[in-house]
Amino acid sequence: MKTLVERDRACLWHPYTQMLTQPAPLPIVRGQGVYLYTEDGRRILDGISSWWVNIHGHSHPKLNAALAAQAREIEQVIFAGCTHPPAVELAERLLAVLPGGLSRIFYSDDGSTAVEVALKLALQYWRNRGQPQRRTFVTLHHAYHGDTVGAMSASEDSIFTRAFAPLLFPVVRAHAPYCYQCPVGLTRETCHIDCLGDLEARLQSGGDLIAAVLIEPMLQGAGGMIVSPPEFLTGVRRLCDRYGTLLIADEVLTGFGRTGRMFACEHGPVRPDIVCLSKALTAGYLPFGATAATETIYEAFLSEDRGKTFFHGHSYTANPLACAVALASLDLFCEEGVLERVGALECQLRAGLEPLRRLGDVRVIGGVGIVELESDGGYLDAIGPRLYAAFLERGLLLRPLGNVVYFMPPYVITEAEVDWALTQITEVLTAFTDHGLGGR
Ligand code: PLP
Repeated sequence: MKTLVERDRACLWHPYTQMLTQPAPLPIVRGQGVYLYTEDGRRILDGISSWWVNIHGHSHPKLNAALAAQAREIEQVIFAGCTHPPAVELAERLLAVLPGGLSRIFYSDDGSTAVEVALKLALQYWRNRGQPQRRTFVTLHHAYHGDTVGAMSASEDSIFTRAFAPLLFPVVRAHAPYCYQCPVGLTRETCHIDCLGDLEARLQSGGDLIAAVLIEPMLQGAGGMIVSPPEFLTGVRRLCDRYGTLLIADEVLTGFGRTGRMFACEHGPVRPDIVCLSKALTAGYLPFGATAATETIYEAFLSEDRGKTFFHGHSYTANPLACAVALASLDLFCEEGVLERVGALECQLRAGLEPLRRLGDVRVIGGVGIVELESDGGYLDAIGPRLYAAFLERGLLLRPLGNVVYFMPPYVITEAEVDWALTQITEVLTAFTDHGLGGR
């Protein structure tokens, strides 16, 4: 009989994978807590929360039960012209925990579509308000907002987007708060968040052509796990107010506790005009997206003129199963002291990774620990796949972004499991760097 991998190789095409040269996919047949189990009997610690989505662990009994219960009621119904209890309750519950000022939830399918919705809402908001010239978005260098065309346009020009350049719309890009490689050549100890000057200059010259500023608050993910000082976040809000434009916070990665607060905007704190949610929204169970907006934005779409309607929708908008599991996940936040757990994880990561600062930069925020190894290879640095293999050999699933190694486990991880993972990270990175990044 053929193995899962052999059958996979005959019919599948995996994301971000050079099918010709990259190693065979891991045949995962089961998950429990922080562990994944393979067809050939291996147990692997999920150190990347299954692409940053899982927070309460795999196959959580309460989430499983919520999903099964909802399936017995209604599994899916069109959301144009219909509503249902989990959609309403989830919107109410999200609005109660999101940063103040947001009052409307628009559901979609994943992180990229949550961002597409945000971009389209911002653009049409200005059009509906008689300012159609406001159609330029300001985004940050190193940004990653997804793989659909709008989200790619807003992301950094990179290996992820270059092949599609003819499809992308132009955006204005401003400096990111990348303190380790400061874009204005300063150090955090002496700077006054001077990188904000670039954003201000772009807002000034863009004037009334700017629709919105789009950022990943506090943590830029796929672009290199860049942690920003909270003052950068407050500065962006201040500049958006000063230049009369909207602030969109892409909390697809950062939402639901990943940075230690329920939402990263709380680190400011700032009140964005639009927030994008996905990933941990369903605790890693189902693809789902939500975009939250203020009442001011919503009101700009209230008109008898059908041209002012928001013509956007997906077949699975507000899927009841996804809503139900998202609600059960929010319950767990209250019942299990989840944010306190992330706080303890943050302390452990700080202490455990600090000795690795000699290898480059160490950054920790909430449940994310990052080591950027000294190298200018970036995402395609050959060390990435070699480190991946070395960690996997030890039973730890990590997926370095080139020379940027990060550990982002489900929050249910125990202290002993974190200790074990930190030991693997320390030993592997030390072995690699002590041999000129060559490893064993
Ligand atoms: N926005 C951010 C900040 C992300 O990190 C991602 C994915 O990693 C996305 C958007 C896109 O989400 P999805 O992969 O669910 O489309």
